Amino acid sequence: MGLGLMSLGIVGLLAGLGLSARWNWWRLPARGIPILMYHKIGDPPPGSKLKKLWVSAGQFWQQMAYLKKHHYLPLTFFDMLSLQEKGRAVPDNGVVISFDDGYLNNYEVAFPILREFNFKAVIFLVVNAVGKDNFWHDPQNEIRIPMLSWAQAEKMQSWGIEFGSHTMSHIRLSKLGPKTIQEELDSSRRIIAEKLRKEPVSFANPYGNGQDDQAIQGMIQKAGYRWACSVHQGKADLERTPYCLNRIFVRGDDNMFDFHLNMTRGKARL
Ligand SMILES: [Zn+2]
Repeated sequence: MGLGLMSLGIVGLLAGLGLSARWNWWRLPARGIPILMYHKIGDPPPGSKLKKLWVSAGQFWQQMAYLKKHHYLPLTFFDMLSLQEKGRAVPDNGVVISFDDGYLNNYEVAFPILREFNFKAVIFLVVNAVGKDNFWHDPQNEIRIPMLSWAQAEKMQSWGIEFGSHTMSHIRLSKLGPKTIQEELDSSRRIIAEKLRKEPVSFANPYGNGQDDQAIQGMIQKAGYRWACSVHQGKADLERTPYCLNRIFVRGDDNMFDFHLNMTRGKARL
């Protein structure tokens, strides 16, 4: 090998190492269903310190276009339930598009894009915040922004969007006694069922708190939910860990290569 070729090889090797320090393209494709986790869609308002939780409308559109182009089929947990009842497997191209908290921007910004692509999604509501604001955030870290209303949730539901529970008050479950935990789980499920006339089957742990706690998982099951979403990164196994489903955190500073790695490997970053 000539010196020129050798230095080219070294440059290539260094470039490869540089790339792998940020991305894990070398990982094998992961099994399971990708459950995308979004929070806020739009541009972060001035003063927002949690910018990674904001995905712009343009990015969201591009990500939905990626799903369409690669023939993904967005499903809800209600879809999973009816597949399960029919004894059918979740299709290989299944994906869940999920949103935590239930912000107004999910209705104003994400919903029109979902409709454009004819995609279903799942929104986990903080029941005490519906029609109000994100009261649980420390105003030092994140400014107050409006949440969607029951009327807007109803409109989205009639179009195929599923609503699950994210507790009554966005609380860390493991900090509560068993009675209060059960109350957070039961009341939120009952109120969503009353307001939207459809019993929720899905739950998402605020902050991922309590996601690995078997006692809490048992309470979520006892409350009547069929699945619970964690904040563990990766693709989900609906059969093996129904009460601690991995999700794919879509960050505001992700590019389309990150998104591609997330969809295929279950994670983009090391
Ligand atoms: Zn949340």
